[in-house]
Amino acid sequence: TSLIPAVAILVVACPCALGLATPTAIMVGMSKAAQNGVVFKGGDSLELLGRIKIAVFDKTGTLTQGKPMISDIMTIKQIAVASEKNSEHPLAKSIVQHAIDSKIRLSDTTEFVAIPGKGVNAVYAGKNILVGSSRLMEDEGIHTESVKQSLIKFQEEGKTTILVALDKQLVGIIALLDTPKPNAKTAIQSLKKMGIQVMMLTGDNERTAGTVARELDIDKFFANILPSGKSDIIKLLQKEGKVAMIGDGINDAPALIEADV
Ligand code: ADP
Ligand code: MG
Repeated sequence: TSLIPAVAILVVACPCALGLATPTAIMVGMSKAAQNGVVFKGGDSLELLGRIKIAVFDKTGTLTQGKPMISDIMTIKQIAVASEKNSEHPLAKSIVQHAIDSKIRLSDTTEFVAIPGKGVNAVYAGKNILVGSSRLMEDEGIHTESVKQSLIKFQEEGKTTILVALDKQLVGIIALLDTPKPNAKTAIQSLKKMGIQVMMLTGDNERTAGTVARELDIDKFFANILPSGKSDIIKLLQKEGKVAMIGDGINDAPALIEADV
């Protein structure tokens, strides 16, 4: 019974300390996270974090380094690279970097358009260039059967495959190996130990996603998902409990907004 008066006295005597404790803890927590490269949506996210049932990770740039190595290029290099010059995507950046390193001269393209979660479109010397996923090629009615075996081989090795088409004719493929971040597996294991379900969400193809998920011990993954589809999946998962989405903001912003944390 003496506890209640004791707390009452404490509240009357030093309301500031109690009033400040929560915001201070949140501020310190948020700035510590920011120092480690993690940005939360808001202060309430920190409180919600304790009630998370599912943690969904973006693949490219979040679980992986986001600085893929070009492992194989089977294409008209200059054109493919030139059309990636204006793209913000980590895949595009590494293709351009590869060109700079290999001293490939970058031609100028016009009419650049980014197709979120699929690739890019540009015009070079009057020709239409498409650079992107198999899905992009299928959507544009471009035949990819001739490279199917190469695609399967690269994807089984966990490589992201990018196809290049010139005036609706497939002219080559680029394979990129984006290795997982060194601490990704440990982070996933720790979450699992806490009883949190870990999943991966990616716009990349099923086979590449599967290889990465197996490497990282992720039980469930969603592949071939466009940016808008990513937020639909979060909505669906929220029926099972609170969901945290961890992403780098490139093609996953709608999902980051939709998630609880
Ligand atoms: P993730 O969800 O893994 O971060 P994205 O949704 O950003 O992947 O992209 C999905 C797929 O679309 C990529 O694996 C790639 O095949 C293709 N893609 C997206 N942007 C580009 C680009 N700028 N150049 C080439 N391909 C791209
Ligand atoms: Mg990403």
